[in-house]
Amino acid sequence: MKDAAPETIYLKDYTPFGYQIESVHLTFRLHPTATRVISKIAFAPNPEATDKRFFLHGEELSLISAKINGEAITPRPVEGGLEADVPEGPFVWEAEVEISPETNTALEGLYMSSGMYCTQCEAEGFRKITYYPDRPDVMATFTVRIEGDQPVMLSNGNPLTSGEGFVEWHDPWPKPSYLFALVAGNLVNHPDRFTTQSGRDVELNIWVRPGDEGKCAFGMQALKDAMAWDEKTYGREYDLDIFNIVAVDDFNMGAMENKGLNVFNSSCVLASKETSTDANFERIEGIIAHEYFHNWTGNRITCRDWFQLCLKEGLTVYRDQMFSGDMRSHAVKRIEEVLQLRARQFREDNGPLAHPVRPESFVEINNFYTATVYEKGAEIIGMLRRLVGDEAYRKGCDLYFERHDGQAVTIEDWLKAFEDVTGRDLAQFKQWYSQAGTPRLKMSEAWNDGTLTLTFAQSTPPTPGQSEKKPQVIPIAVGLIGPNGDEVVPTTVLEMTEAEQSFTFEGLGARPVASVLRDFSAPVILEREMDDDTRAFLLAHDTDPFQKWEMGRMLTKDMLVAMITADVPPAETALDAIKTVLTDESLDPAFRALVLGLPSEDDLAQTIFDAGQTPDPAKIHAARKSLRHALALHVSDVLPTLGRQLETPVFVPDADGSGKRALRHALLALETLLDDGKAARALFARADNMSDQSASLQALLAAGLGQDEIKAFEKQWKNDRLVMDKWFMMQVSFAAPDKAASTALALTQHPDFTIKNPNRFRAVFGALAGNHAGFHAADGKAYQLLANYLIELDKINPQTTARMSGAFETWKRYDADRQGMIRSELERILATPELSRDTTEMVTRILSA
Ligand SMILES: [Zn+2]
Repeated sequence: MKDAAPETIYLKDYTPFGYQIESVHLTFRLHPTATRVISKIAFAPNPEATDKRFFLHGEELSLISAKINGEAITPRPVEGGLEADVPEGPFVWEAEVEISPETNTALEGLYMSSGMYCTQCEAEGFRKITYYPDRPDVMATFTVRIEGDQPVMLSNGNPLTSGEGFVEWHDPWPKPSYLFALVAGNLVNHPDRFTTQSGRDVELNIWVRPGDEGKCAFGMQALKDAMAWDEKTYGREYDLDIFNIVAVDDFNMGAMENKGLNVFNSSCVLASKETSTDANFERIEGIIAHEYFHNWTGNRITCRDWFQLCLKEGLTVYRDQMFSGDMRSHAVKRIEEVLQLRARQFREDNGPLAHPVRPESFVEINNFYTATVYEKGAEIIGMLRRLVGDEAYRKGCDLYFERHDGQAVTIEDWLKAFEDVTGRDLAQFKQWYSQAGTPRLKMSEAWNDGTLTLTFAQSTPPTPGQSEKKPQVIPIAVGLIGPNGDEVVPTTVLEMTEAEQSFTFEGLGARPVASVLRDFSAPVILEREMDDDTRAFLLAHDTDPFQKWEMGRMLTKDMLVAMITADVPPAETALDAIKTVLTDESLDPAFRALVLGLPSEDDLAQTIFDAGQTPDPAKIHAARKSLRHALALHVSDVLPTLGRQLETPVFVPDADGSGKRALRHALLALETLLDDGKAARALFARADNMSDQSASLQALLAAGLGQDEIKAFEKQWKNDRLVMDKWFMMQVSFAAPDKAASTALALTQHPDFTIKNPNRFRAVFGALAGNHAGFHAADGKAYQLLANYLIELDKINPQTTARMSGAFETWKRYDADRQGMIRSELERILATPELSRDTTEMVTRILSA
């Protein structure tokens, strides 16, 4: 064994593989600890490659035998795989290896979950199944034979043949190995059918463990909606005879788009009114669509190398966002997206883990499945569409699909399609992929005799490895509102390309108020001087729902920051403005609920840090709590009537029903602060759906109540793994700051706690990291507890460990004591013998801040 520092891989070093693959034939002889994988692969020299080294990736494989053109050979083992001497022309490689799915706890490659065989190959898991050029630019057609005694045995593509103890599948579409999948187990299906626009009849199945059949109908409907939407919106049709989805309990990610056989974390597909909240329903609908949409954006056209990950993810996230907006409400969806983007991606951009949407280097690609690649990647697609217009966007997409079907391509190929249909030069726009950090956009305005001039200056703070930043192309959507509240100039997109630039609006009668960055038209931080009265005016009159919400958010945020840093009481202007929105029945209840939501403690900590001060987590927590109380008192007179108006006698998880419940639950949380939990207890007692049940329980826990209810909840749901995740999570999320670490520790002693299940681990430790004041409690106990568990988890599941270590990414915001404690925990993790490559890379980057 070699004990070297993990190797860094660079985008600039890309070279094509020396061989192409004509076909792949795999046979699996399933066994929990000794599965045999027999591969037969037809290779031919790649005329476009100069490097003819024959290297196959392989990790944790026992090689039984290898042959070239039928002759036994002895390949040379090398770091990360093997090499062999091969003939000049085409040849057939055969190998037999043995692997142990049962002891594979990393959940990459072939592993077992609750007695069922399943795979996860993205990004580099296929090399744990057999020797193969495990890189996305090697595409091939696969035929797979599975031998075993499992009642259901599935792989990609269409079923070919089956008999006693075996099945065969064939996928006619060339694909890279990361899209390979195999599932075998005791599964039952929820079947349906879909007829595509060209008349192809497709068999659809959602496969689950017996007992979960009743939780598939919603996911199935979402799948059919997504299939129809992609035909209508992008002209993309499904291309196999069968589409299978499987629910798996132990899964590192949300779901995986393997060709024709999507594998889902069960939390992202199983839904029922009794066990799922409105947020769960919405997420399931979005993820089912996302994985389905990958069939074209990711599978038919894939990434040349992993640096291009945003090519499939940014685009597919953008597509699922638009789908969800069409299914529900674009206004509400956009606000939710921005909340997510700021909470996760802006946070990432602000710290030691900041990286471009297309990174230039990595040690472990698993560490780059980030908010930046996904969410900022999607924002770039949205900006591109805004700049070229809807029609050219669709034409560019059509050209991209036509030109690159069956290929592994790059961001350059994607942008070229839009340059060709529009004649625009997108060279400067491309910087969005290479430049890390969130641009700051400073705005000033001047009014002179009927002309309004808006001047913008852009700058991007330095990020790791990038000190110099260039001006970006920023689409700024602007509208103008007259003094009487009417819109005088509808939304116009200003295209900023310089470091500083002015735009004028002429022929105006009276000085209007500018509504800037409508629909959050670019992922930037807008800095603009504005008083509370102007914000309240836009909150009342803006026609753009995002800006309307944004004004409410700025009012509450400034009020909270003043309460924290200057010890002032809540501002009446802001409280009145919120109450006006709350009682405005012309507005969508979901929107009103979002206006009522306060900025998170993490968001406030960052805001205070950006203003040059050191955030005090305990003070932030106390101020937010006291504002919630003040708000409750301020709206107490309207609470009972409003609550009654929002009753939803029949549970339907659609936009209307979930919007009403969201507002009713937000009001209930306020009411609970005033009535000692009476209304929340009553709702908990009569709840016939998980939304009502968990919202009432959370309201109680947030008010320091609910101990009887948490016991009742456990008694009712102890046999439901997914609902019990909520039970674990809620207790830590709503624990008082001085009890968060001890609550998490006590829950790890619960018989149902296991670190082997990523959902359960995240339920406890994701909640601990998310409980801002609890995680950053002055005694450092939470830091220590999380570090202990990360060290233990790393031996079992490096991927989830590395991801969870991101909890520490904001450590430089805090005071010297906290920084010292976090530094020593990070150093303790790093000093662990045999720490994984994943966690080593993440912790090293965090420490380098
Ligand atoms: Zn994806």
